[in-house]
Amino acid sequence: MKLYNTLTRKKEIFKPINKNKVKIYSCGPTVYNYIHLGNARPVCVFDVLRRYLEYCGFSVLFVQNFTDIDDKIIKESKKMNISVKEVSDLYRKEYEKDAKGLLVKKADIHPTATAEIKNIIIFISELINLGFAYKTDSGDIYFNINKFSKYGKLSGQSLKDLQLGSRHFLSSSEKINYDFVLWKIAKEDEPFWDSPWGKGRPGWHIECSSMIRTYLGTTIDIHCGGQDLCFPHHENEIAQSESCNNKKLANFWLHNGFVNINNEKMSKSLGNFFTVRDVANKFGYSVVRYLMLSSHYRTPINYSEEIMNQCNSALLRIKNCQESLICAIKLSKIDITNEIDNNLKEDLLKHKICFIEAMDDDLNTANALAALFNLIRDVNSKVLSKNSNKETLVFCKDLICELTSILGFLNEERSKNNSNDEIEYLLFKREEARKNKDFKEADKIREELDKKNVIVKDTNKGYFWKFKD
Ligand SMILES: [Zn+2]
Repeated sequence: MKLYNTLTRKKEIFKPINKNKVKIYSCGPTVYNYIHLGNARPVCVFDVLRRYLEYCGFSVLFVQNFTDIDDKIIKESKKMNISVKEVSDLYRKEYEKDAKGLLVKKADIHPTATAEIKNIIIFISELINLGFAYKTDSGDIYFNINKFSKYGKLSGQSLKDLQLGSRHFLSSSEKINYDFVLWKIAKEDEPFWDSPWGKGRPGWHIECSSMIRTYLGTTIDIHCGGQDLCFPHHENEIAQSESCNNKKLANFWLHNGFVNINNEKMSKSLGNFFTVRDVANKFGYSVVRYLMLSSHYRTPINYSEEIMNQCNSALLRIKNCQESLICAIKLSKIDITNEIDNNLKEDLLKHKICFIEAMDDDLNTANALAALFNLIRDVNSKVLSKNSNKETLVFCKDLICELTSILGFLNEERSKNNSNDEIEYLLFKREEARKNKDFKEADKIREELDKKNVIVKDTNKGYFWKFKD
């Protein structure tokens, strides 16, 4: 499998440090509000990365943090007149609801900044002892980026370029100071923890460096996050960790692109800001997930109502094919002499090969989806519309299921309020009524099914049903 590594700016063959174990760290949310559409993208995309690596036979250790102490959380707690912990607990739970809705697997470890304080203090002490950090006049502890010669290597900027970046705003002698805070001395009314440098709290960047070392070790396989985190957050993580541990922090750095709204940048000031919850309430979580995977993760994606409707139809196409197969299997008779036609099997497996090739090429979910739809087209035309035997039907169902589970689609409908059981029950009652020649009752049930978006087709082999397109 090849992955595009931001660090080297090229696609490289992925090889984990330990043969079968992959260690991944993904920067998680700051829990002060509902997550927005842009936050959902890394969550979905790197969930697919994890699922695919597991599909390929690796065991994955996936760590994602929660930033539960920060200026924004403190501000929100004052606004809501509740404690910082109450704010972070509340929005952490809301994040978990969204992540569950998006069918994202829970991280193996979900550390929080406030539970990591002890290790963070040790980390900062080491940086001070090694000469990488200093105390400011106000008592805060800062990292001195001039001491780390490789600063800028991830974002591809030299320190000199960075410092002179906006020099036309500054007099020639002034330099922009990119030193960043490791420990902030608490102001009045702010939560604090005791430290050798006084009562205060950690800066944002240091928590990730500390958590990675605590839970995954000094060097990890993959570090991922949104493109907006590349500079300065990830650059600062590298500076802290590599200065302190004298080891490379991560072999691969993966960054996902932005989510635009109607081809404009999403921002509160433009009034085009959407939370995942808002969009999921309108279109369903699975459609949000589909949108996130419909383009290659590094390209920007666009959100609009029209695109969401297209995503919804695409998802229904997959779902209808699966439901039709399940129904056809139920109606088909077991006949051990019937085997799947080898030419047909080969034709169908070609689509799986294309799917895998796309995933191996830097997790190209857009091309993988194209391969899945080619498979569905063939299943519809070469299997479902013909008198196919049970073995063929089961083969198709399992193949589609294998591929959709890599993308993490469609479990939602099956687990959600067992709606299919209710549909099955109504179909059964309708069959009963038809057998008893009670066509009035059968029509009534058909209307009820229609309200549930279900179409029933009667054939000489029995009935089929599917959701409306
Ligand atoms: Zn981070």
